[in-house]
Amino acid sequence: MRRKDKKVWIKDMAAQRIVRLFHLANESFDEDPGLSKRYVFLARRIGMRHRVRIPPHLKRRICKGCGAYLVPGASCRVRVRGGRVITTCLECGHHKRIPYHKAGR
Ligand SMILES: [Zn+2]
Repeated sequence: MRRKDKKVWIKDMAAQRIVRLFHLANESFDEDPGLSKRYVFLARRIGMRHRVRIPPHLKRRICKGCGAYLVPGASCRVRVRGGRVITTCLECGHHKRIPYHKAGR
């Protein structure tokens, strides 16, 4: 295996582990939100260590303020206002604003 191939392989593994950890966070949330927070923490740490980006659809499920796993209706509140989706963490009150493009512009 060439050096570059190995690097790519390691990053690929890291990305897979991140996705896997989010699955676990999702599964454990009902029973133990603290545990899913731990999984999210691990996923972020893997991402940082390997410099792998967390996929955008998963990234918006992490609270930047306290690192909680955000589940709409359970651990966060989601509102649409002024062309933005505002996600409020119910644990620490941190707001996340994500602009979106209206359908058909
Ligand atoms: Zn929070």
